[in-house]
Amino acid sequence: MANLTDEKLVEVKSINKWFGDLQALDDVSLDVQSGKVMVIIGPSGSGKSTLLRCINYLETPTNGQVWFNGERLTSDQRELNRHRAEIGMVFQSFNLYAHLTILENITLALKVVKKIKQKDAESIAIEQLKKVGIADKADKLPSQISGGQQQRAAIARALAMRPKLMLFDEPTSALDPEMIKEVLDVMMMLAKEGITMIIVTHEMGFARAAADEVIFMDNGRIVEKNTPDGLFNQPTSDRTKLFLSQIL
Ligand code: ADP
Ligand code: MG
Repeated sequence: MANLTDEKLVEVKSINKWFGDLQALDDVSLDVQSGKVMVIIGPSGSGKSTLLRCINYLETPTNGQVWFNGERLTSDQRELNRHRAEIGMVFQSFNLYAHLTILENITLALKVVKKIKQKDAESIAIEQLKKVGIADKADKLPSQISGGQQQRAAIARALAMRPKLMLFDEPTSALDPEMIKEVLDVMMMLAKEGITMIIVTHEMGFARAAADEVIFMDNGRIVEKNTPDGLFNQPTSDRTKLFLSQIL
């Protein structure tokens, strides 16, 4: 059993991922302790999304191991469903159901996956919508609210499942600039609450403020891993320096 002072919620042990003859992940290992925020940065095509998807087995690593909550993930579908119910994921494209209201988008999984009754599901949904500041949009369709509000709804939907871990894959990349802050503010609030998160983002200001640890990936490898201060102020690898000089 994990001991409480050093509880690793996620452990990735030497995973490789090949798509045909393309190697998307090359011997990637990392740990995330409960309550910590890890930010992953790196150029397009460096394997960031593939790594996130391997953590909840949306992609199966070609080899290596992923551990979540003290158990090794396998392709066993029942086991996977049990784990995935505890892992929230938020994508660049909000992935809300277009024909359901914001409230229904949130209550659906509560009812289907968690077997929670309609009334209770609705009160959980409203509570989460209040938390992300859009309770007044509960009865709107996704198309009737802004991109920033849709992304906050997607976050509320993930939070409603009471996940142990939240994965974010470039959650603000599809947003107009004026909406980026409202989504980052919600994520910052979650970080302060101690929700364990792994976040792929190009928002370096947010990474500095929110991350306990930052990982720089390139060509499927973790090139550098450090505190935000260390990584942004004193990068050791030339590839990290070049990337930061292009993005900052
Ligand atoms: P990032 O998120 O850092 O932009 P990705 O993890 O999406 O990078 O992709 C890493 C590499 O793997 C890229 O070369 C990409 O084209 C390739 N790749 C990702 N998913 C697939 C897939 N399903 N099939 C084939 N190649 C893929
Ligand atoms: Mg990606």
